[in-house]
Amino acid sequence: MWTCNRCGETVEDQFDRCWKCSTPKGQGVPDTKPKRRMAYKYFRGTLASWDELFSDAAAFATDVGPEQVLGVSHSCDECDGVVTVWYWTTENAAKTPRDQPEP
Ligand SMILES: [Zn+2]
Repeated sequence: MWTCNRCGETVEDQFDRCWKCSTPKGQGVPDTKPKRRMAYKYFRGTLASWDELFSDAAAFATDVGPEQVLGVSHSCDECDGVVTVWYWTTENAAKTPRDQPEP
């Protein structure tokens, strides 16, 4: 048995190429898919109400899309509400957007 370099399929020794993707034995490079990376965006504010923070987070999560959103967490840091949206992105995607500091 040998393992296809390209698709990772195990192939019987009597075959000299992968039955699945027909890559010759010992050749081929793994499929290069963009690596998934976890990212987050948080919404916080002393003056903002939970309603505002949650609706901001909900709007952002809607933009990201249901397939990418992993979850939303919230916490209270000394009366400062923080709502965080966790989502999947790829390494090729733009860097994690961060909140601009409030003036
Ligand atoms: Zn293969």
